[in-house]
Amino acid sequence: MKKIVVLTGAGISAESGIKTFRDSGGLWEEHRIENVATYDAWLRNQELVLEFYNQRRKQLYECAPNAAHFALAKLEKKYDVQIITQNVDDLHERGGSTKVLHLHGELKKSRSTVDENLIYKINGWELKKGDCCEKGSQLRPHIVWFGEAVPNIVTAVKLSSKADIYIVIGTSLNVYPAAALLNYVPNYIPKYLIDPNGSEVAGIRNLTVIKEKAGKGLPELVKELTL
Ligand code: NAD
Repeated sequence: MKKIVVLTGAGISAESGIKTFRDSGGLWEEHRIENVATYDAWLRNQELVLEFYNQRRKQLYECAPNAAHFALAKLEKKYDVQIITQNVDDLHERGGSTKVLHLHGELKKSRSTVDENLIYKINGWELKKGDCCEKGSQLRPHIVWFGEAVPNIVTAVKLSSKADIYIVIGTSLNVYPAAALLNYVPNYIPKYLIDPNGSEVAGIRNLTVIKEKAGKGLPELVKELTL
């Protein structure tokens, strides 16, 4: 079975009603990164950071996977599909994809602040001050904040280097190290980029740019790949 590796960003969830970061009307117009998504912010004001992610989590419960998430699940009938996502939502899983690697953490999980291996599922949408891990320390959102290490990047590089087909969807390719993954994909294999604002990427060969929203462009590509 051929291996398709898919790198997704905030754009694939946009049609589900989850705002992207950099589009106009995106999240960062309402919140400053340094106030809600850095370890310094957490040290300064835990309530504000918890509340920011509580609101994101609450919204996620009101959202559903869209045609693009479902199309990726369909691809598994013919291919070994591995998704690498920068998204912290769970829409790939709810859309039926079985192999999803989260680079930047997961909104519906919390993590101990003294032992990073202690990760828990959050019941409901709220994580509060005073919610503690089994070792007694405050729980934080299981999110990779700006400036923090991305532990799953090593696995993502290995997966990217072994792809037979590579699909990139809905990412501005601005956030590193995820944005560099394309550089590890072998030159000769076919690559697709689906993004209404997508363009050629310097140094990347065999790349077809599909300037469409994921909900339209991806089902069409999946149809073509599964003919
Ligand atoms: P980004 O906001 O930098 O870029 C979003 C990209 O999606 C843009 O290139 C835009 O043109 C494209 N886009 C917008 N609507 C689209 C659609 N309907 N179909 C296809 N593409 C569309 O997001 P990013 O590159 O993922 O990087 C920013 C960071 O934002 C990541 O670290 C990620 O963790 C985080 N984030 C995640 C979520 C989520 O989990 N859903 C939401 C917002 C931000």
